[in-house]
Order: sequence, then C-alpha cells, then structure tokens
Amino acid sequence: MPFSDDYLTLSSEEPLLFTPIDVDKVRSDFPELSRTVYDRPLVFLDNAASALKPKATIDRISAYYANEHANIHRGVHYLSQQATEAYEQARRSVQAFINAPSTAEVIFTRGTTEAINLIASTYGRTHLNPGDEVLISTMEHHSNIVPWQMVCKERGAHLRVIPINDAGELIYDEFLQMLNERTKMVAVGHVSNTLGTINPIKRMIADAHGLGIPVLVDGAQATPHMAIDVQDLDCDFYCISGHKMFGPTGIGVLYGKAKWLEELPPYQGGGDMIESVSFEATTWNELPHKFEAGTPNIAGGIGLGATVEYLNTLSMDAINHYEHALLEYATEKLSAIPGVQLVGTAADKASVLSFLIDGIHPYDAGTILDRLGIAVRTGHHCTQPLMRRFGIPGTVRASLAFYNTEAEIDALVDGIGRVKQMFS
Ligand code: PMP
Repeated sequence: MPFSDDYLTLSSEEPLLFTPIDVDKVRSDFPELSRTVYDRPLVFLDNAASALKPKATIDRISAYYANEHANIHRGVHYLSQQATEAYEQARRSVQAFINAPSTAEVIFTRGTTEAINLIASTYGRTHLNPGDEVLISTMEHHSNIVPWQMVCKERGAHLRVIPINDAGELIYDEFLQMLNERTKMVAVGHVSNTLGTINPIKRMIADAHGLGIPVLVDGAQATPHMAIDVQDLDCDFYCISGHKMFGPTGIGVLYGKAKWLEELPPYQGGGDMIESVSFEATTWNELPHKFEAGTPNIAGGIGLGATVEYLNTLSMDAINHYEHALLEYATEKLSAIPGVQLVGTAADKASVLSFLIDGIHPYDAGTILDRLGIAVRTGHHCTQPLMRRFGIPGTVRASLAFYNTEAEIDALVDGIGRVKQMFS
C-alpha cells in the first residue's frame, strides 16, 4: 500500500513501505499475553518452541467447530462442501503467503517434522543409492538430522555435515567443497532455532543447483520472522510448522516443486490420496491430495489460514523490521552483563538469543527466571550435535516475537541479575 497513509518516511532513512508495528495494539490481539504466572505478568520469551496465538486464529477455529464442521473432499452435502471450501481457501492463503506457484505444490502436514520425513522417505527410497551423500549442517534441529540419518542407513548412503565457525555461521567454502557428483540432497535450516543464524540459503540453492542437486529448506524458524518467497529462493522443498508462526499445533506445510511431487511416490496410503483402488492396483489422486492420506487436521488448516490472513494485516516486512530493532536492543543489553556469554553471534540473525551465565547451569537459571514470570527455554534445544560443537551441555534461550517489548528485555536483564545474586 505504498501511496496511502501507510507510506511513511523516517527522517534520513529509506522510506518504509509498511506500517510499523504498533506493539501495544498487537499485544491486545494475543489473549495469553494478558495472563499472569505466579501473580506476575507473563514475559513470554519461548516463541521458538511455540508461539502464542492471536484471537483471530482462536475465534476461527472455534467458529469452525461450533458451526461448520464436517468431513471434507467427499461429501455432497452443504456442510461438507462449506468445510472443503474453507480448507482449500486456507491452502490458497498459504500459497500466497510463501508465493508458491500453485496450490498443487502446497501439502498440508502435521508440521515441519512430518514434512521433512515425507521427503526423506519418498525421495530417499527412490533416489539414494549406496555411496551417495546427503548434506546437512552442524546447526540442524534433530528433525532435519534423524530422518536423513535413517534413510541413509537404509540405503547405504552417507550423511555429511557442513561445519560452522565460532560465531555459528556455515563455513561457505567448506560447503562448496563438499558438493560433488555423489551429493543427492542438500537439507539445511533457513534459521537456526538455537543460534538464530540466518543461513545464506538462496546462494546455497544456486550453488547446489549448479551441480543439479535439489535443496530442502527447514523453514520452521524463518516463517515467524520474515517474508518467504519460495520462487525467489528457487528451493525444491520448503518445510513449515504452523504453531511456530502463531498458528495451531498439528498443522504444517510442505512446499515442493510440482516436478518433484509428481515424480515422488506417495508417503502414506489411505483415503483421499487415491484416484481408484482395486485389490490388484491403485492409482494416485492428483496433487496435493496424493500426499494427504486420511482425514486431515481440518480445523488446524483453517486456523492456519486465518493466522496467515492476520499476519498479512501486519506485513512480514513490518514484523521483520520491528524484531530486528528488538534483537539489537537485547543483544546490547545481554552482552553488557558481566559473566553472560552469547552463543551464536552470526552477522545475519533472527531474534533468538542463546546464552550462558558463568558458573550457573542453564536449568537453574531457567527455573529462577520462571519464578519471576519469565518463560525461557533451557537445554540442548533439539540440537545436541551443535551443543557438542560448542562443547556445552545446553544454553538458556530467549526467543522473541513481534509482540515482545524492550520492557520485557529489561525484565529479562533484571532477572539474570537476580539469578546471579542467588548463586553468588
Ligand atoms: N526445525 C527447526 C529449526 C525447529 O526449530 C523445529 C521445532 N523446534 C523443528 C524443525 C520441528 O518442528 P515441529 O516440531 O513443529 O515439527
């Protein structure tokens, strides 16, 4: 909306083509933010584990169950058709949100984990042979390690790991050297859930494609923070979790290029994914249904559609802009605390801050912060090999969303002060 009131100019800076986030207003959209824990206002800094839900999403799911529920895709009756239309409208919303060329390329899954397993299994079984290689990185979430490890073992292929530097950035030259004619897949996270590192995936995709190698991107931690354009990235597969991007749990998305999805075999068999069945032979339904066996998470899909529409009212660019400033503020404040060491200091980061406090176990720090009403995550964050790379058992992680404030960062800083006092 460049020529409305939303077209703003900030003094000497570039004009902004979005309305900046009004944090008080967006906070009122998230009911859970107004609750207390231990009689203290909730400071929710565990968004990377799962983000809070806007009222728009909650209301849409409630309305669906109260008034519109019926099974989809099969019924001739009014309610079935209405529910089918709502579910397919959600697919169109997601398609537009990630700029996928068609709804045929937007598969609903249970989440990122299932999306990665779907590709590891179907692609792995049909394209990996003994001696082949799958390339992942040191900072992957277990979800983007274990499925590949399993299928590599089954097929006699090797899992190779791109190393990182001490700031938590991929060592790009090493990545380039690891690509070869045996590489059959590059599977890499867009944003690290533990370090916040934003990987240079567009460049990685171009370099892998130069050798004809497909790329799967684990986008679980990217979609809550930035606009995603799968055509611009040119990725072969992009995996998303609804619950990390303010949507329902139990719903996610696998984007895949049609040429791959047409070629790959189905992941699960059952209702809806077939065209015709006989005891002798079965033929598959058209995309995207070929990969959606059984009654899906209808309410989850519709809820995710409503979430995407809500995010569109704010704009992902506005969210990214707001969070970038908040990350800079938090980085400066946390770095200034004596005895606090940030883990993950990449030049290009999303709003995730992992840290250690000298001499204090992350679990103890997390427990005390919790009693102060501050929700952070402690532990290995499902990235045990990454923890091993840094030689640490775990970290405390504060992960920010666009509804977090500088005042909440100040509360975290005060809380860390209390933790240090108690252990001094
Ligand atoms: N990848 C990354 C980077 C993640 O942070 C997560 C969730 N922590 C996952 C994959 C798995 O997502 P889900 O549990 O929603 O399937």
